Amino acid sequence: MSDIEKNLRAEAKKLLEEKKVDYVIGYEESNGKVSPCFIDNAKDVEKLVFNPGCVHNLSVYLLEADAENKVGIVAKGCDSRAIIELIKQNQVIRDNVFILGISCDGVKDLLGKDYDKCKNCKYPVPLIYDVLLGEKKEGKEEDYSDVEEIESMSLEERKKFWNKQFEKCIKCHACRNICPLCYCEECALDDKNWVSKSHKFPEIWMSHLIRALHTAGRCVSCGECERACPVNIPLRKLYRKIGKDVKELFDYEAGVNAEDVPPLVAFDLDKDKEKIKQN
Ligand code: SF4
Ligand code: SF4
Ligand code: SF4
Repeated sequence: MSDIEKNLRAEAKKLLEEKKVDYVIGYEESNGKVSPCFIDNAKDVEKLVFNPGCVHNLSVYLLEADAENKVGIVAKGCDSRAIIELIKQNQVIRDNVFILGISCDGVKDLLGKDYDKCKNCKYPVPLIYDVLLGEKKEGKEEDYSDVEEIESMSLEERKKFWNKQFEKCIKCHACRNICPLCYCEECALDDKNWVSKSHKFPEIWMSHLIRALHTAGRCVSCGECERACPVNIPLRKLYRKIGKDVKELFDYEAGVNAEDVPPLVAFDLDKDKEKIKQN
């Protein structure tokens, strides 16, 4: 057992025994497959694991906690950004959450392949935590080469690229349902006035562009949408393009600094219109 796993179990046990939390959201493993788990009894902490299979961003489950629940949660660097953003957007009460932060070495899929998000991870150490497990480590330099590759295409080429991707979409909404920052109780994607049930152009574009724009300034690039997509649409590339634009226009990176005001809140048409025209 790794030191991280050992210390994680000890911390979770203490939290539950001292009744500082009602339950801990973490990971368990069964038949070689890791899945999220909810531990509400100190005697069950031995179920908790942390290993390269722990890919899920558990912060999405914070949205289901009752306002009076105190919750412990295991969070990697990328997951912590979602927690920061959820706190800023008044979806999570900071005092109700105990963050068991993990200094992360990356996660792998079932075939043992690194996830793309880990190849250029800027924040392996959580940006918010109550206890940190593992040694602090340096993140990588920002690398938008995947987005720049698409930006360098002509308009026609880009349209062809995304048409080819979107025509695979079965509108299952797994990408929306797994996203911690897609928390609206009423979603435009369920409203037939915005999006019909058709899988054809232009509805399919409408559906994807609505979601992309609604994640502007909120997406923390955790890659869960792309992982959940059953037809392998490279959604993270699309949302990273929006994230890159938001950064260039408003100097804002979602989930990085709890003090930064989200651009959609701080936007001032008179002040910001020149900047937008130039881009
Ligand atoms: S993106 Fe970073 S923090 Fe997230 S799983 Fe990969 S290496 Fe860990
Ligand atoms: S849009 Fe995708 S990458 Fe962005 S926060 Fe949601 S699940 Fe994560
Ligand atoms: S998960 Fe994939 S197939 Fe399902 S709605 Fe999202 S993009 Fe379409």
